[in-house]
This record gives sequence, structure tokens and C-alpha cells, in this order.
Amino acid sequence: MLSVKTFVEGPVDANNYLLIDEESKEAVLIDCSSPNSEFVNAVKDSGVNLKYILLTHGHFDHILGVNRFEEVFGVKTYMSENDLTQIKYAPQMLMMFSGQTIDKTPEIQNFVKEGNEFKIGNYKIKAISTPGHTKGGMCYIVDGKLFSGDTLFQGSVGRCDLPEGDFEELAKSINEKLFVLPDDTEVYTGHGGKTNIGFEKKYNEIINI
Ligand SMILES: [Zn+2]
Repeated sequence: MLSVKTFVEGPVDANNYLLIDEESKEAVLIDCSSPNSEFVNAVKDSGVNLKYILLTHGHFDHILGVNRFEEVFGVKTYMSENDLTQIKYAPQMLMMFSGQTIDKTPEIQNFVKEGNEFKIGNYKIKAISTPGHTKGGMCYIVDGKLFSGDTLFQGSVGRCDLPEGDFEELAKSINEKLFVLPDDTEVYTGHGGKTNIGFEKKYNEIINI
């Protein structure tokens, strides 16, 4: 069985998801938005073998815990190479959105591309490239669960007015990569509540644009 634990963390409440293969206890963390000890300890206490950190994109509010988690758990972090510029913008963006500073931005050296797979136990987590919110936006899918980052939200989509955002691209990604998934695919979003593909195909704001 694959279980999902949700942690709402960081300066603008991003969702971090710990996916656990309950048989082997191997786990992956999708997004890592805070170095808080409470968050680190919760992951430690869950008794898992954390294998990777996968980032949906490089925005400041999804990456602030990366250095601490890499240090504590000895794991590697994967992100699209196309979002390296977003990491550079992170200190400015953090200041702009929350007035906070960051000591050291993560140095991501492992890159994920469309179709790449990451194993935990017998589960394969597959990467889907969904540019638009950022150039290097990625979603991850496993066991009928989609982790959509800031590409698709419950009822809405990610903003495209930040550096390197592109609405046309975002609409294309959602229509061609996400809305083709089975209706009962559960969607775990980067902020806010959970939804599913069937619901979003009917009610998401993007269908009227
Ligand atoms: Zn974002």
C-alpha cells in the first residue's frame, strides 16, 4: 500500500507530500518548503527510508527545506534543469512575499525530465513535464495519484505573471498532459485542497478561458 502524508509548511503554506511504500518503508518527499525542526522530526519519526526529494518546481516556497533535509537524511534532490533560474530568484522572491531572508539557496545537481521514473518499493513515480507556471514545472504520478505542484489547483491554475510564467504553455500542459488522465485520478495540489481530474475537467476556471 502507498500512503500519503501531507505537511503544510513554509512562508506561504505549500503542501509537502511524503509518499510511503508501507511494505518496504521506502519514501519520497514531494516538495520541501521548510527547514523547521518539527517538519524534519515528523519525517524522522515516521520511520521511513527517505530515498529522494522531488521538486515540482523551483519557486522559493517549495524549496526552502532542501538543504536541511539533504543534510539530515543524506538524500538527493531532483528538479527540472529549466528551473535553475527560479532558484536564483528565490532570495528576492522570499523577501518580496514574506520579508524573510535565506542563508543559502539549494544547489540542485540532479535533474528530472519527462518520463523519468523513481522507485519506492514496487511503486514507480513517473515525472510529467508541465511547463507554464515555471519553465521547469513537473508533475509526478503514481498509483492513480497526481502531484500537481502549482500547475493545477482545486478550481484554478497556477499564476503565470511571475518571471518565466507563460499562460499559453500552462493551458497546453494542463489540457494535453493532465486532462487526458483518467477522471478518477486524485490530484494532490501544491497549495490548498485535494481534487480529482474529472472534477477539474468540469469546473476548473481554465475551461472557460
Ligand atoms: Zn510556484
